Amino acid sequence: MSVVARWNIELIATCPACGLDVDLTNHPDFWIDHDFGVAIGRQRIAAFCPECETRITVDTE
Ligand SMILES: [Zn+2]
Repeated sequence: MSVVARWNIELIATCPACGLDVDLTNHPDFWIDHDFGVAIGRQRIAAFCPECETRITVDTE
């Protein structure tokens, strides 16, 4: 029996203003700014909360 595997990539940051879990991979600039061909290290990502539009600066680990 074989099955097909599905990728499910998300990078969650909690909005400091409203507490919403924001998936940074939904941010349109994310895939332009981050090349997953290189090792993922600590990076600073600028994003915004889709709920309350607070600008968020995120440090990835
Ligand atoms: Zn928010």
